[in-house]
Amino acid sequence: MQKQSNSPRLIVHGGAWNIPADYHAAHLAGVKAAVEQTYPHLLDGASALDAVEMAVQVLEADPTFDAGRGAFLNAVGEVELDAIIMDGRTLNFGAVAALQNILHPVGVARQVMEQTEHNLLVGAGALDFARRSGFNELPPEELLTERELEFFRQIQNDPAFRTHHPFKEGPGDTVGAVAMDKAGNLAVATSTGGTARKLPGRVGDCPIVGAGAYADNERGAVSATGWGESIMKVLLSKTVCDAFAAADAMAAARQGIDTLARKVNGLGGVIGINAKGEYAWAHNTPYMAMAYAETEGAIKISIRARTN
Ligand code: ASP
Repeated sequence: MQKQSNSPRLIVHGGAWNIPADYHAAHLAGVKAAVEQTYPHLLDGASALDAVEMAVQVLEADPTFDAGRGAFLNAVGEVELDAIIMDGRTLNFGAVAALQNILHPVGVARQVMEQTEHNLLVGAGALDFARRSGFNELPPEELLTERELEFFRQIQNDPAFRTHHPFKEGPGDTVGAVAMDKAGNLAVATSTGGTARKLPGRVGDCPIVGAGAYADNERGAVSATGWGESIMKVLLSKTVCDAFAAADAMAAARQGIDTLARKVNGLGGVIGINAKGEYAWAHNTPYMAMAYAETEGAIKISIRARTN
């Protein structure tokens, strides 16, 4: 399939959940900044891979989101981060899971893809690799925000708290970006702090290829967010990429979310771009924060409310 024009595409999300009204402005500003800072590079000829890494780094540095700085705390009050990046030209990907003390896990994921014979590094091994690759190891408190510390204190000993519940009622601000460059290549990156009060060592959908992200130039590229334990059961991103073959972009995204809901009672959202360069998005959470560059380069931002 050929895309329709040479104008590059970029779409980002800042999580799908019941985003409270007083958080909307920060979410909109965050996703807008990611597109604003990255899209000009795509217009100048940057690769889709560079663009998704760049956009996700903007979002990881923004304490609004559950990725990099501002991530949720796990059950013992620590930050553990997951990230993935995938190249639609080659199907190469790199990922990290349960990585601590690094602001930009997406950058480490890219190094895993490009500098190792592996696809996924976890925990202490991932941190060791990040150090050896020149990433700055931060003291744990550098990634911690007062907001997350306060939330952790509230839920720490609450026997009724369930990690999947927040996608309806509370936080879930994973970030992701999907890009198509001037050459028509696709790439995706997704990054997260996972779910609140997760068990130490818990790995969500984000760094699992096909679940939190997938990119294949022949089909499209997709980044997912939401309740990871459900998303990985239906390989949500790959499911949407497969659906791009037969359905138009928006319908494919909708089909993926319908599968998530119908088969595993899941909650989440997806953004994507098909091989023709058409944008796609859908979610079954109350809201999803997203932004994309229109073909003319104007930036569209929205906190999308569920319509079905
Ligand atoms: N999908 C992420 C996870 O389960 C969380 C999120 O999207 O906010 O780790």
